[in-house]
Amino acid sequence: MEVTVTESAQLKEKPDESKLGFGTLFTDYMFIMDYAPDKGWHSARIEPYGPMALDPSTMFLHYAQGAFEGLKAYRTESGSIQLFRPQENFKRLNRSCRRLCMPEIDEALAFEFLKQLLTMEKDWVPGAPETSLYIRPTLIATDPYIGVRASFNYRYFVILSPVGAYYPEGFNPVKILVTHEYVRAVRGGVGEAKTPGNYAASILAGEEAHKEGYAQVLWLDGVEQKYLEEVGSMNIFFVIDGEIVTPELNGSILPGITRDSVIRLAKHWGDKVSERKISIDELVQANASGKLTEVFGSGTAAVISPVGEIKYGDNVFTIADGEVGPVARKYYSAITDIQYGKAEDPLGWIVAVA
Ligand SMILES: *Cc1c(COP(=O)(O)O)cnc(C)c1O
Repeated sequence: MEVTVTESAQLKEKPDESKLGFGTLFTDYMFIMDYAPDKGWHSARIEPYGPMALDPSTMFLHYAQGAFEGLKAYRTESGSIQLFRPQENFKRLNRSCRRLCMPEIDEALAFEFLKQLLTMEKDWVPGAPETSLYIRPTLIATDPYIGVRASFNYRYFVILSPVGAYYPEGFNPVKILVTHEYVRAVRGGVGEAKTPGNYAASILAGEEAHKEGYAQVLWLDGVEQKYLEEVGSMNIFFVIDGEIVTPELNGSILPGITRDSVIRLAKHWGDKVSERKISIDELVQANASGKLTEVFGSGTAAVISPVGEIKYGDNVFTIADGEVGPVARKYYSAITDIQYGKAEDPLGWIVAVA
């Protein structure tokens, strides 16, 4: 499939790399293609970034039949541009598509299109330490129709956003709140898909946590409200008695690529790691007995997000004296060093693009 390119009449000025935030600036171009039942995916094109005309009855806007991905392009010291495990993002997008009854996209083709867009936009990949170009592939249902069913037509698009260091003031632990009032996902639901409704459903709990001075919500499972699942929109890890523990994937947890990378690196290095159910009661006990030494979140945006305090009911407990623990620090450095090409890539995760 050929990609039609429409040149922009005026390119934007590149931002000051020392002042980049997250998710507010977008590059000059975006990739778009459409799906129709009789044509399959068609009309692949790169166009100037800008508003898209959608019929007000577009099904996605009403019923949230959609999915997205999030990955980053990194500039190395030599100036080249590389991605971290991008095939995993396209595989996961297709898993989300299957759950949401949407057509899949050939993974190799999606990667070729992304490479073409990145090659055009390579000057937008910032080079300052810890900055990157965030990539957001998105797929939405586009039938103009009111009524619940699977759409027949879809649009896939990819937008790019230069982003700054996630920790501009340094690597600081966050405070998190365990919620009993709300759940993020339930058994049989769409928790393991990266689908917009999950995020809409999580906003109220997040807002209430912020009002209490907490950065994120620690989610319990939606069935018994007993087992730990995720933190905010990150996966979660605990260090208990010298072992790295993360909740096992159960259908309501998002299978994070950063999560998988921590597990694989731990196995590669021979660190003790396990995926299993872990209850809030076990966490409270492990903390009381001094065996809980670290808690951290994992995700593409922050990579590793150390937790310094957890509030559960009336109990507030401090983790690792509110400092960044050695395990969080080790995995943060190891993963970011691989992503920026500062360390060798022992597990073959890096894909050069430009
Ligand atoms: C995207 C996401 C993650 C992290 O996944 P990564 O692939 O590591 O970025 C974790 N939890 C939720 C709910 C997410 O949406």
